Amino acid sequence: MVSRRTLLIAAGTAGAAAAAAAAGDVALERSRDVEPGAPEPVDAQGRLVWRNWSGIQTAYPAARAAPASEDALASLLKTAQAPVRAVGAGHSFTALVPTQGTLVSLDNLDGVVSHDADRLQAVVRSGMRLGALGEALAGVGQEMFAQPDINKQSLGGALGTATHGTGAAQPALHGGAVAFRMVTAAGDVVTASPTQNADIFCAARVGLGAFGIITEVTLQNRKLSRIRKQLVLRPTQDALDDWPALKRAHRTAEIYIIPFTGTSAVITSDATDDPVVPRGPDAENQAVLDLKHLRDVFGPVPPLRRLAAKLALGGTPPQVAVDDGWKLLSNERPLRFNEMEYHLPAERQIDAAREILAAVERQRPDVFFPFELRCIAPDDAWLSPFYQRASGSVAVHAYYQNDYSFLFTLVEPILRRHGGRPHWGKLNSLRAADFARLYPRFKDAMQVRQTLDPSGKFLNDYLRRILVDA
Ligand SMILES: Cc1cc2nc3c(=O)[nH]c(=O)nc-3n(C[C@H](O)[C@H](O)[C@H](O)COP(=O)(O)OP(=O)(O)OC[C@H]3O[C@@H](n4cnc5c(N)ncnc54)[C@H](O)[C@@H]3O)c2cc1C
Repeated sequence: MVSRRTLLIAAGTAGAAAAAAAAGDVALERSRDVEPGAPEPVDAQGRLVWRNWSGIQTAYPAARAAPASEDALASLLKTAQAPVRAVGAGHSFTALVPTQGTLVSLDNLDGVVSHDADRLQAVVRSGMRLGALGEALAGVGQEMFAQPDINKQSLGGALGTATHGTGAAQPALHGGAVAFRMVTAAGDVVTASPTQNADIFCAARVGLGAFGIITEVTLQNRKLSRIRKQLVLRPTQDALDDWPALKRAHRTAEIYIIPFTGTSAVITSDATDDPVVPRGPDAENQAVLDLKHLRDVFGPVPPLRRLAAKLALGGTPPQVAVDDGWKLLSNERPLRFNEMEYHLPAERQIDAAREILAAVERQRPDVFFPFELRCIAPDDAWLSPFYQRASGSVAVHAYYQNDYSFLFTLVEPILRRHGGRPHWGKLNSLRAADFARLYPRFKDAMQVRQTLDPSGKFLNDYLRRILVDA
């Protein structure tokens, strides 16, 4: 998207004097930044700490377990110290997982159990990571309908928060779940599908680990397909005007609005029989670091920042790759961030995105991460943010070392005003009463939860806030 070389040239040609006046002689120094790795799993006192991916959630579980079978999980749940929280890959930004009680990793419940070639279905253990799942399904000629931006999540965690990809006809990942097995707080195993324990199927498919711990999921997949993925840079206003047509024309479509540049990256993909053109080395993280350098040098002077970006980005050719979808649709994201994402009624998405862009460009010159716009088909899971409505999502990111309070003070009010429902795994300030207003079947889902877990074994403080306390 943006190459370091072109950016540095741009920074130089846009005026060394201006750059120096704006931010001192930092451009070349900053260009040598490297992203620090994830922090150690022990704290400064040497205590074992659990952290989420971005580092803003931490916990000191009293006990940790990683059962290797459904039976082992069932006997654990009978006696485990509450609160008991399931953890997949720890990629949620909200405090869904933290526990001072028992942390149950699903890492040892891994792999594809069986597959049905005629029905294009597969039974998968819930701890399996999406990347490994994509590869295993490809081995039997299948693929999931949707694929998120990364593939590090566990299947159980992804379903648990309504993780999604993009595509007007593509439901979120739980849209592909046709049955699951779950161990309850009492240590009983229940099977749920549209014909067996249908209420549990509706309530716990997007279940936040609050109904029980899912061990196996039957996925309805489709035939493995090759796609042609294309990234094109376009003026932001044109890309936003064109969004309805882009969504209609392509199997997947998304827009990354690059603030302070007037430019957006439009990424689309479609099925093809073209010969393979492998994806090149991942340039997107370097591009985001380059945007950070632009911010560091020109941040206080937005017109210079826009000019430098225009010079750097102008003439960038489209990027094209052709391969199996599971290889192309997810990305590496070594650059850590915190994120808020809301799912809006599809017709409100672009207005909300324009408002957020204007507000950020007016008030927050420190922001440099692109905003992400995607689209998701409706489904019928009671706690799905896409419940009975075609949705458009708006995601805003903050570099993990930077202040993210603007997500709550500036961005969230706009997303709420446009009727948004927050991504369960991403930052938001909502409480149970808010969710009850946003979700028509919220009360029904909570009745199912209360029946399955009357003592609240699976509830931590955060879950009480968003599910129970009005
Ligand atoms: C870099 C990055 C990129 C992302 N991209 C996307 C994206 O493109 N689209 C999107 O929608 N989201 C995205 N997310 C959010 C992410 O997909 C969700 O937060 C997802 O829940 C993470 O999966 P996990 O395995 O890490 O789950 P965790 O965060 O470990 O757990 C999430 C929830 O699921 C529960 N849970 C986990 N396993 C089970 C189980 N077996 N049974 C019952 N409950 C369980 C946990 O208790 C918890 O409540 C992204 C996050 C990051 C950090």
